[in-house]
Amino acid sequence: MSTTSLLSDVFGFDAFRPGQEEIVDAVIAGENTLAIMPTGGGKSLCFQLPALARNGVTVVISPLIALMRDQVRGLREAGVEAGALTSGNTPEETDAVWQALEAGTLKLLYMAPERLASGGTMNMLRRAGISLIAVDEAHCVSQWGHDFRPDYLRIGELKRTLGVPLAAFTATADAETREEIVEKLFGGQQPSTFLRGFDRPNIHLAFAVKDSPRNQILNFAAARKGQSGIVYCGTRAKTETLAKALSETGHRACHYHGGMEAEDRRIVERRFQQEDGLIVCATVAFGMGIDKPDIRWVAHADLPKSIEAYYQEIGRAGRDGAPAETLTLFGPDDIRYRRQQIDEGLAPPERRAADHGRLNALLGLAEALRCRRQNLLEYFGETPGPCGHCDLCEKPAEVFDGTTAVRMALSAALRTEEWFGAGHLIDILLGNATDKIQQRGHDSLPTYGVGKDYDKRQWQAIFRQMMGHDLLRPDRERHGALRMTEHARPILRGEATIELRKDTIKAARGSGPKVRMLVSEEDAPLLSALKAKRRYLAEQANAPAYIIFNDRTLIEMAEKRPMTLDEMAHIGGVGAKKLENYGRDFLEVIAGATEEVHPMRRKLAGRDEGAVYDRLMQVQASLNRGPHGADKPMSCSASMLAKVAQLRGADMEHLTRVIGDKYAERFGDAFLEVLEGN
Ligand SMILES: [Zn+2]
Repeated sequence: MSTTSLLSDVFGFDAFRPGQEEIVDAVIAGENTLAIMPTGGGKSLCFQLPALARNGVTVVISPLIALMRDQVRGLREAGVEAGALTSGNTPEETDAVWQALEAGTLKLLYMAPERLASGGTMNMLRRAGISLIAVDEAHCVSQWGHDFRPDYLRIGELKRTLGVPLAAFTATADAETREEIVEKLFGGQQPSTFLRGFDRPNIHLAFAVKDSPRNQILNFAAARKGQSGIVYCGTRAKTETLAKALSETGHRACHYHGGMEAEDRRIVERRFQQEDGLIVCATVAFGMGIDKPDIRWVAHADLPKSIEAYYQEIGRAGRDGAPAETLTLFGPDDIRYRRQQIDEGLAPPERRAADHGRLNALLGLAEALRCRRQNLLEYFGETPGPCGHCDLCEKPAEVFDGTTAVRMALSAALRTEEWFGAGHLIDILLGNATDKIQQRGHDSLPTYGVGKDYDKRQWQAIFRQMMGHDLLRPDRERHGALRMTEHARPILRGEATIELRKDTIKAARGSGPKVRMLVSEEDAPLLSALKAKRRYLAEQANAPAYIIFNDRTLIEMAEKRPMTLDEMAHIGGVGAKKLENYGRDFLEVIAGATEEVHPMRRKLAGRDEGAVYDRLMQVQASLNRGPHGADKPMSCSASMLAKVAQLRGADMEHLTRVIGDKYAERFGDAFLEVLEGN
């Protein structure tokens, strides 16, 4: 089969996503390849499709057990022979994989790197007719990265032993990591390298200065109720308190951190993967194992440690390509904490300098004066225009010439020999005669009281931005006292000026991103009916909902409203096997919605009954083929549903009079539950 027919028949796409095709072609041609592409950029397709196009078995090495199991499941749903050897397997599953290998029917074999340590596995791979090695999360081979997996070092040996091409994939690889990958996976021979755009246009970017941060997070979550999200926290304790606060305000939320028992962590991972709309408050320990494509938002309750970490963490949102939102909170304490972490780390000095540089890049993004995305992508070497889809594009920063203020602040620090923190320096600038100032005679400094044009809060914002621009750095040997950096010298000498934001304190007040609907108001009821159908099918299959269809596919269905199987086949993500398995179920939902719903639903618009109507639609969709999915399809007419929606306080007898015995038998209890819930 040609690549385009594989693409449409097996994976259900009419066209490649940007950048995929060249990589696919190179891998099929048997070239050694290294692809650096963003999470959610359609990475897995770049080895799955070649695996089908080539003879023999492709072995896929990944550290992510949940991801492997999901991909195997997804491939099988699409009619592809795939199996995984992981520590999570039952003996039966492992046997089935071995049998398929021996029978020569297996096309993709997923494997955890730990397996390579066993001689038995190596022998098996030698005999199995492996024709391609695909390595996911290739940066795990880097000893400097925090995702280092020692067993990844065995992959180079595997490649030499089998003498087959290798395709390596990663979302995060700076130049140094890239060199390590080439060295260790490809034996130093330069592979064909593809650097794919880092932009994730569906992700909305926003930062806010901390200002009662707990409320900021609660407001952000409240505007996205019912959507799956992650709140990254700087400490274990905060994951627990925030999860509790979210639960108390009516969300389903749980916490996750490295200090929990392995079993408890697995439970959270599993729940998050399967359930729709769960919030996890987590440290960065929550991440590597997460492969949920429909995470709708990621919030940082504390500043991440570097621009790469930020990119990786927000990148977990919206992997299905549907809209996703992010919010990153930061403040002066975060900056101090992150600097200290680097200074007190065990890395050699040159590495520490590089880490400060990566933190600087993130702080530059936090204090940016223009488009965040432009700023972020420029760090990765791209040169895009303004995005129109970030907080600064939507509401441009208010700036002022901060040169004089910055010089005053630098002067206060220098005249006190860089032994003090922002609090004391601000007291000097404001001319506050505190005990500390009097004891040290700082009231006789020329800078004493020169800064009265700004109040304390404004000075705090100025100092924060100075730290953000790396003009002042806390020195851990002086207990966090602020010291001037080389970057500040030109400003002090009058050779450079600097613009600062004046709105970051104000802007933090209750102005979280607006709620964005996934589809237009008109299509929203259909989308929720499609989701209800999906949830029902997923529960039947005991699988996460996105295994059936992801959000992006459902959104396209809701917007394009295919009426026939042929039209359905053109929806992105609907391949031949899924079309056969689920096409009719979803067509019924769409037909039900398109034929009759609109005029009736419109009459109820803006009234409570409208929402009741939508919920009735949802329960009806989930009972369309009866409680076990085996009965004759049945659904009430739109006018009947509209009548039911207005039956506040009705009992079964009353309901039966309106919809008749036949419908009451199938839907009666569920409808009454909806009516009572209102
Ligand atoms: Zn922008």
